[in-house]
Amino acid sequence: MATTLNERKLPIAGEWVETGEWLEVRSPYSGEVVARVAKGGADETRRAIDAAAEAMKDPLPAHKRAEILVRVAGALGRRHDEVARLISDEAGKPMKTARVEAKRAMSTYTFSAVEARKLAGEMVPMDAAQAGEGKLAFTLRRPIGIVGAISPFNFPLNLVAHKLAPALAAGCAVVLKPASQTPLSALLLAELEEEAGLPPGWLNVVVGKASEIGDVIVDDERVKAITFTGSGPVGWKLKARAPKKRVNLELGNATPVIVAADADLEAAATKLAANAFSFAGQSCISVQRIYIESSAYRAFVDRFVPRVEALTVGDPSDEDTDVGPVIDEGARERILAWIGETKGRVLTGGTLDGELIRPTVIEKPPRDDKVSCEEVFGPVCTVNEVTSLDEAFELANGTRFGLQAGIFTTRLDTALRAAQELDFGGVTVNEAPTYRSDQMPYGGVKDSGNTREGPHYAVREFTEEHLVVVELP
Ligand code: NAP
Repeated sequence: MATTLNERKLPIAGEWVETGEWLEVRSPYSGEVVARVAKGGADETRRAIDAAAEAMKDPLPAHKRAEILVRVAGALGRRHDEVARLISDEAGKPMKTARVEAKRAMSTYTFSAVEARKLAGEMVPMDAAQAGEGKLAFTLRRPIGIVGAISPFNFPLNLVAHKLAPALAAGCAVVLKPASQTPLSALLLAELEEEAGLPPGWLNVVVGKASEIGDVIVDDERVKAITFTGSGPVGWKLKARAPKKRVNLELGNATPVIVAADADLEAAATKLAANAFSFAGQSCISVQRIYIESSAYRAFVDRFVPRVEALTVGDPSDEDTDVGPVIDEGARERILAWIGETKGRVLTGGTLDGELIRPTVIEKPPRDDKVSCEEVFGPVCTVNEVTSLDEAFELANGTRFGLQAGIFTTRLDTALRAAQELDFGGVTVNEAPTYRSDQMPYGGVKDSGNTREGPHYAVREFTEEHLVVVELP
């Protein structure tokens, strides 16, 4: 239950500003107002970019950037309960899952601090070419410029951290637009960065009308990179509108998993039941489509469904809750409509528990059902019988998405085949494809995106190589 009612201003140019308008952040569970946030727009975004440009005139040395990042990681640890509670309040995320997110953000900041200290170019082996004889050459990694960051509602802390921390590690100032439904964790991070010693203008946050803020970020030539996590249509449109900027997209998925006949079915059922419904399926890599080889099908489903039914549905602020609400009524209605129109058989769930969608398992929907080919982003998964691994690979690859996929098998050859043939940014073996650790290169192919996050990889995206050639005496 949301317990705090407070007002949050926007950090722009080193000040916390009011705008005269307020945006209410409501608990997706109770509907109560958690906080009011100053609502910004085009003017605030322009001021934020001005401030970022001013800040970058006085670069911060790497050791200072690293120290700030480490201090934020420490503050996240010291204030863990408050941070997890804030995520839970604004996103309706069960405390269990919110605590994991809060800890992961510490990891994201810590790895970014390491990257800040390691950031370096490389020597170019000049005498490898006749034209290079008598020359010395090396590259410097320089900050790309101002970063425009746009983040989604579902990991309001750690996905913001995956933008802010690597950008600072790279030496870039940021203008952040967090999701309107969940801006509070982002504002808390801004507060922690300020307390950690970040000078004015390096991080500016504008909450408000997405298209207005987005248009300024797209149109202003001083913003050199846009890092966007969210839905495909919004992301690809931003990229098309900003051909001169580096536009890094982390988008959706309709996450498949294959359960081979030889798999450890107990382990597969346990992991997949937890990972199809964590945060009510509102993760871009939530398990959605499970393909099981025929000879294991019945045994898997008999293990899987009871585990799904054992999940605790309820108040996200309760430490025992596994599955809470989806983000809003619109999402709930859409998900229920998709369940309603499936031609598959609902094995469990499919109805409401109060206002909450019960964890839902749909058996054998046709491949053109929305639950088979679109991203559900809700507490719904499908179980499908396949007659061969060939069919499983074909179906797993058969959507426009390509973020992460998984396979459960005890055979090395099958695991390695999956690693080669699943057309996704990442493949997990004997682990749910919902798995992510924050130093991993994480991102998609096909419609799911065009970049890799994880501090080591993101820092490269936020820097440019600058070549120096020296004539030797
Ligand atoms: P969304 O509706 O696309 O929103 C994402 C962000 O974009 C929000 O801050 C939103 O602002 C903003 N936005 C919307 N329209 C915009 C515009 N015209 N210009 C600039 N910004 C605009 O996505 P969501 O519903 O929050 O998130 C769910 C999606 O994110 C799912 O598809 C999920 O798979 C994907 N996702 C991907 C990853 C990954 O790492 N690959 C991780 C998490 C989520 P408002 O909130 O103000 O509308």
